[in-house]
Amino acid sequence: MATSIKNWIGKFTGGMGDGGNGGNGANSDTRGGNGHRLDSSTITGTMKERPPEIIEEIKKELSEISKVSTKTKRVLYPFSAIIGQERMKRALILNAINPSVGGVLIRGQKGTAKSTAVRGLAEVLPEIDVVKGCRFNCDPAKPDKACWECKERFKNREIEVEKRMMRVVDLPVGATEDRVVGSLDIEKAIKRGLQSFESGILADANRGILYVDEINLLDDYVVDALLDAAAMGINTVEREGVSISHPAQFIIVGSMNPEEGELRPQLLDRIALQVEVEGIPDIEQRIEIITRQNDFLNDPAAFRQSFSGDQERLRAKIVQAQRLLPRVTMPHEYLRTITRICIEFKVDGHRADIMIDRTARTNAAYEGRERVIEDDIIEAAELVLPHRMRKRPFEEEEFSIDRLREIARV
Ligand SMILES: [Zn+2]
Repeated sequence: MATSIKNWIGKFTGGMGDGGNGGNGANSDTRGGNGHRLDSSTITGTMKERPPEIIEEIKKELSEISKVSTKTKRVLYPFSAIIGQERMKRALILNAINPSVGGVLIRGQKGTAKSTAVRGLAEVLPEIDVVKGCRFNCDPAKPDKACWECKERFKNREIEVEKRMMRVVDLPVGATEDRVVGSLDIEKAIKRGLQSFESGILADANRGILYVDEINLLDDYVVDALLDAAAMGINTVEREGVSISHPAQFIIVGSMNPEEGELRPQLLDRIALQVEVEGIPDIEQRIEIITRQNDFLNDPAAFRQSFSGDQERLRAKIVQAQRLLPRVTMPHEYLRTITRICIEFKVDGHRADIMIDRTARTNAAYEGRERVIEDDIIEAAELVLPHRMRKRPFEEEEFSIDRLREIARV
């Protein structure tokens, strides 16, 4: 029975699963990697002719397939093999060291290694402690923030701790609301309780990185769900008067091609850092990109092996920075510098001040320093400010690094 369903499903999914998207090189900015997307309208149309119990089973298998497809393993291009794009790499690493930095938006044309960098980041991320068996990746050290299932586990003293790499979870632009926030079948919930809640992408992303390629093309309901979850650290699903919540704290990493439309201002404001990526003008570097891309495609395993030392060093540096971060001090005079910069550049509110402070501390930790220096502040301000400057009509306030340095050195 199960086989026949699988065959049948195979017909309209076009054989999903591994492969197909191996070309993850520095220059290929391939989409999603989910292979074919399921088109729910076709599915319902065909399923009508089937007896109800088969339909149920098919639906179940379908939801399993769609879950697997977002976690499909692919051969990753090593993060440390990416040439240039230093600011993008730095912004990603700072978030990996300190999730409270608050995410990054990467803007740029196609083929600038945006997706390659974000996906590749997964391999150099630090490990985290999770409650074994928890689908929300709860933190064993924080019982008060645990999901309802872990609260039971804590009560019954059934907590087992597991070490795992932080995850990069994809949010495909076409994902349904149920797939993003999770779905609750009221009838089942009444019979079987909360375990009938089918968790979604926001559950997978808890305590990890949520990667949204083409974030500017997201549907409004997904943007709203993201904004709510980002503000509260909690995802809430309401169906027919029943409400269910689970922890959903994640680092948003978005990428977009500005030629395809701008991002909603509310979402833009929520993402702490922004980087612009461009094609590299240097001939030697461009040649090296071609060479590495070819080497990677010819023999991915050997290519990855040749960068394993660099990868290991980067991972160790990130872990080291995490240990150092709590000890990093910010001299009071530099707090003055930060506020002066924010006033001069006319940003709204106080969020930018706070973000520069956090990012500068994290940058100092990454550089192995226990004390923030001026360069950390400039580096941080360059990532936080440009997209936050208040624009008045008929006035094109441009961000300039020279002006930033001038203000910082007063
Ligand atoms: Zn849990």
